[in-house]
Amino acid sequence: MNAPTPVERIVGPVIFLGAPGAGKGTQAKRIAERYGIPQISTGDILREHVSRGTALGRQAKEIMDRGELVSDKIVCDMVESRLSQADCDRGFILDGFPRTVEQAKWLDGVLAAKTFGGKHLPPIVIDFEVGYNQLLKRLTGRRTCPDCGKIFNVYSQPPRVPDTCDSCGAKLITRKDDTDEAIAVRLKSYEQQTKPLADYYRQQGRLRVVSGEQEADAVTKEVISAIEERSA
Ligand code: AMP
Repeated sequence: MNAPTPVERIVGPVIFLGAPGAGKGTQAKRIAERYGIPQISTGDILREHVSRGTALGRQAKEIMDRGELVSDKIVCDMVESRLSQADCDRGFILDGFPRTVEQAKWLDGVLAAKTFGGKHLPPIVIDFEVGYNQLLKRLTGRRTCPDCGKIFNVYSQPPRVPDTCDSCGAKLITRKDDTDEAIAVRLKSYEQQTKPLADYYRQQGRLRVVSGEQEADAVTKEVISAIEERSA
């Protein structure tokens, strides 16, 4: 079946907050496809650098494998060059960025200088809330397709053939940082460095909390209504 034609509206900037395993990546892919706008995942961009063995990838690899955060400077430079590409003109979804209050302040400055269809648009910030035990289950069960990026879970969303991508047939992999030790570090760094971001955006009146424990379709529906409430 062909993918539906994207909805051609001005979406503006959309930020997905939430712990690792909250479903940001899965939802970002759906929303990006619906509106024909890019999903900008700093984790994916960094993993690509690691697999290509670039200087940046060599610098980031060990930090990522341990589950720690890469420096603000590295990720902000990466995001700046990505946002300057033409496919970001109608909007984009930031998945995994910002992760610190410093990154969020930097992003505010960048967005203040950007227009979408001739208008300045503040970000729509969606915080996916998922309880700790559920996050652990999702992270330990997560399997990813290295070729097409599709995400599975051995407990809740297994592939039809074990370890094989339903869409493209590639052998699924477990992310290097989905080990017990790295998961513990990632969840701690989320609590300490990323959770304060929810307050930052709440104070700006931008935060929209969505329960990420619902069925994926119900989550997508809430995200779409948050986006479409801001009429183009
Ligand atoms: P993710 O795929 O979003 O879970 O990111 C995987 C890893 O990439 C994280 O554990 C960090 O090491 C790094 N990373 C991704 N996004 C950021 C960010 N915004 N700031 C710092 N490090 C990041």
